[in-house]
Amino acid sequence: MPMFEFKCDKCNHIFEELLTSNELQKEMPECPECGSKKTKKQVSSFSSGTDSGGCGPSRGSFG
Ligand SMILES: [Zn+2]
Repeated sequence: MPMFEFKCDKCNHIFEELLTSNELQKEMPECPECGSKKTKKQVSSFSSGTDSGGCGPSRGSFG
């Protein structure tokens, strides 16, 4: 099943949409959360990128 993962650029909500590659040529789907069209297709990968979030093994304690 051609499931694609999208991420809303507005509320950062991640959702899945069943689209064909043809559909993707048109426009991105709306965010089911806020209804924004500013969604981006995510790469089909489980592990997320390394963004400065705050999770992970903290090495060395300050103070
Ligand atoms: Zn949204």
